[in-house]
Amino acid sequence: MTINAVIAIHGGAGTIVRASMAPDAEARYHAELRAVLVAAQRVLADGGSALDAVTQAVRLLEDCPLFNAGHGAVFTSAGTHELDASIMDGRTLEAGAVSCVKRVRNPIVAARHVLEYSEHVMFTAEGAEAFAQEQGLEFVDPSYFHTDARYRQWQLAREQQRAMLDHDGASLAAQQEASANEEALPHEPIDPNKKFGTVGAVAVDLYGHVAAATSTGGITNKQIGRVGDAPLIGAGCYADNATCAVSTTGSGEMFMRMVAAYDVAAQMAYRGASLEEAANDVVMNRLPRIDGRGGLIAVDAHGNVVLPFNTEGMYRGYARVGEVPVTAIYR
Ligand code: ASP
Repeated sequence: MTINAVIAIHGGAGTIVRASMAPDAEARYHAELRAVLVAAQRVLADGGSALDAVTQAVRLLEDCPLFNAGHGAVFTSAGTHELDASIMDGRTLEAGAVSCVKRVRNPIVAARHVLEYSEHVMFTAEGAEAFAQEQGLEFVDPSYFHTDARYRQWQLAREQQRAMLDHDGASLAAQQEASANEEALPHEPIDPNKKFGTVGAVAVDLYGHVAAATSTGGITNKQIGRVGDAPLIGAGCYADNATCAVSTTGSGEMFMRMVAAYDVAAQMAYRGASLEEAANDVVMNRLPRIDGRGGLIAVDAHGNVVLPFNTEGMYRGYARVGEVPVTAIYR
C-alpha cells in the first residue's frame, strides 16, 4: 500500500482580531508556518521517519520568536521561563518528555533524547537539565528566552494580577501599544489575549508510521512549577499507529482533565470512530463541557489529517509529500 505521507503543525489557537491585524503580521505567520512545513516535508520525502519529521518541525517552531515555545516562550510569575515538551512514536509507543526546563535551547530535542536514550518517559526541572547535559544537548543562558513582546505581555498580566493564556497577553499588549501609537509588538491576527501559543506537529511517514510532538512555554504569569498538558503523554501528545497521532493547544488544565489527546485515539479504538469524528467530539463536545478552549491536530496511518479548534482561529498547516503546503489561521 502506498502511504500518503503528510506533516501537520500548529502554533496555537485563539480569538481572531482581524480588525487590528496588520497584513504583514499575517503574512509573516503564514511564511513561518510554510517554511517549517517545507523542511518537515523534505524529511518525509527523503524517506525519513514521522518521528524525525515532527522533531524537525517542532525544533524549528521553538526557534521562531512568534510562537510560545523555546525562544518565544512566555514569562512565569517570577519573570523566568519554564519550558515543557513531549514526543511519542506511534510505531513503538515509546515516548519522551521534559517539563520545567530553563536552559535547554530546544526542549523537544531533550524529549526526543529521553525517548531514545532513557528507560524513563519524563524528567522534570533539575533532573531534566542534568539528563540533557549528559546527552550533550545545547544549553543557552536564560536570557535567550527573553523577547520584548513576551516581556510586555507579562507586565500586563501582572498588572491584571492573573495568569493569562499567552496570546491573550500578546493581544492586550498589542492593544495598549496600538493606543500608545507604538510599533514594537506586531499585531497578531489572533488576539494574543485570547490565544494559546503552544506548538506541535503530527506526521505519518511513507511506511505508515505516525508520531506526535508538542512544546510550550506554558501560560503567561503561570506559577513556578506549574505544568500544563503539553509535556503529558495522553493529554497534550499521543501517537499510536493503530489509531492516530495527536498534538494539542489550549487551556492546558482542561486538556489534562479530559486526557484530550488520548481520548481521540481511544474513541477510534473503542467505539470505532473515524479520525474526524473522534477529534471533533473531543474539541467540539467534550472540552467545551468544562470550558476547555483550543484545538488539536491529528493524523492517522492512512494519511487522513484533521485540525479542529473551538476558538475563532488556530495557526495551522499541513503538507503532503509532493504537494504544495497549506497554511491557515482563521476558521
Ligand atoms: N496548552 C498550553 C499549556 O497549558 C498552552 C497553550 O496551548 O498555549 O501550557
